[in-house]
Amino acid sequence: MENKSVKNKSVKNKMSGQCPICKGTPQDGFFPFCSKRCADIDLSRWFSGGYTVPVVELDEKDLDELERFVEGVDIDPDEPRGDGY
Ligand SMILES: [Zn+2]
Repeated sequence: MENKSVKNKSVKNKMSGQCPICKGTPQDGFFPFCSKRCADIDLSRWFSGGYTVPVVELDEKDLDELERFVEGVDIDPDEPRGDGY
């Protein structure tokens, strides 16, 4: 019985890993973070560009590339390549 409880504890500890912000020990209420502070830091990262900027940048670039691609295809019919699609 004692052995089981010890094992369970060690497994839980292993699964907990570490806080992605400060590498501290995650706490139950803030998992996977160690505290509200670290959870807030992560949240603010999402809001302050960590998440939005790359997505917007990628989206804009993607759109531009797609537009050019479509334009190129539109102009392409000049060549006799009807079944080359
Ligand atoms: Zn932390």
